[in-house]
Amino acid sequence: MSAAQNSPRVVVIGAGIVGAATAYYLTRAGAQVTVIDALTPAAGASGASDGAVSVATKRPGPMMRLAREARSLYGALERDGVLSGLFHRRSTYLFARTAEEVALLESHGADLANEGERVIALTRNDLLARIPGFGAAILAGLEVPDDGHALGYQVVNRLLAQAGVVVRRHCPVRGLSIAQRRVVGVETDDQQIAADVVVVAAGLGSSPLMGIDDVLVPRKGQLIVTDRASTKGAALPGPLMSARYLVAKRAATPGQSGVSLVIDPLRTGQFLIGSSREEGCADRQTDARTVAAILRDALEVYPALARQRVIRTFAGVRTATRDGLPIVGHHPQLAGLVIATGFEGDGICLGPLMGAAAARLACGLEAQIDIDFLTPKRFPTPAMAT
Ligand SMILES: Cc1cc2nc3c(=O)[nH]c(=O)nc-3n(C[C@H](O)[C@H](O)[C@H](O)COP(=O)(O)OP(=O)(O)OC[C@H]3O[C@@H](n4cnc5c(N)ncnc54)[C@H](O)[C@@H]3O)c2cc1C
Repeated sequence: MSAAQNSPRVVVIGAGIVGAATAYYLTRAGAQVTVIDALTPAAGASGASDGAVSVATKRPGPMMRLAREARSLYGALERDGVLSGLFHRRSTYLFARTAEEVALLESHGADLANEGERVIALTRNDLLARIPGFGAAILAGLEVPDDGHALGYQVVNRLLAQAGVVVRRHCPVRGLSIAQRRVVGVETDDQQIAADVVVVAAGLGSSPLMGIDDVLVPRKGQLIVTDRASTKGAALPGPLMSARYLVAKRAATPGQSGVSLVIDPLRTGQFLIGSSREEGCADRQTDARTVAAILRDALEVYPALARQRVIRTFAGVRTATRDGLPIVGHHPQLAGLVIATGFEGDGICLGPLMGAAAARLACGLEAQIDIDFLTPKRFPTPAMAT
């Protein structure tokens, strides 16, 4: 990014992965940055998620291309030292249990290959050679060798540290200060903070701040953590993802809930097993019925899990949008307002790239990547009070 225009004062609302990345790129561009969070850094979805930096699962088309860019950026940030030790390459293994799912993996593999992604079609025997212990129900699979993993809360803390920004914690932004159709700052409980530009990266909390009604939808996900299956790093070469996960992504039917199974071998040797997609649920409770459904599915896929102890369960809340795409861009009516939210189950992967784009927009520059399809302009905006 070139030098910022006159070192703008930018307030970033939200210290999740998107806000932290925005702050990082803004400070690099010379902006004066204030980051405010209603709670603490990574208190939202970024601290209660899995960390697949994965192209394998993305919808074909622009989202798949964006994910490829996002994963490359992780690689570059890792190499440059910014995220050293936090991003790790590994294969993703998609698996099919029915003839329909086998066909879906074939067409999804072709879509990935068309985008230039390396893919390896796997028979059941190929899969068993890579992952002994796969259950009898598994018919075939697809390996995507160039994917990766990063833990959201670690990335948030590293980016904020690299930015040299101290987050204002427990400081909910209650509204925007607006003058002559321009955002000129934010209002908290006890002060107004002036700004040339405001970036709303507040996940689900973005709704009342961005002036676009009824577009964001909470989608809860429950996850299960086991004890260590290995004392020498990850117990499997990569995550096992159900082809049903692709159905959830490719069809993205609003209003549907269910389980799209991922068995993720963490570098600690533990398994992170998830997750549900519970439309309209913004609480962070876990419940026996959903946890049991996830575990039943997981045991069918990888019966060796029966040996593990469950040490905890937790839930996070994804911020989905009505049309299944994130919202990134300038506000349609108000100057000085940039929005970056709605990343559903893709924000750990996309976060640094979207933060880089939001920072460029805040500095009056074009985003370096094609994000026109994410513009907030696609939604009707009620007339804003000025
Ligand atoms: C179960 C689960 C599994 C997931 N797995 C993956 C995965 O494997 N790979 C992947 O890429 N993504 C995954 N995700 C998605 C990913 O976690 C999110 O897309 C990403 O964390 C969103 O980041 P964010 O910065 O937009 O929002 P958040 O992390 O939610 O941050 C928003 C921040 O804004 C703050 N805030 C809200 N309102 C206000 C206000 N009024 N004033 C000030 N601050 C405010 C909040 O306190 C919060 O800290 C998963 C999510 C879940 C729930």
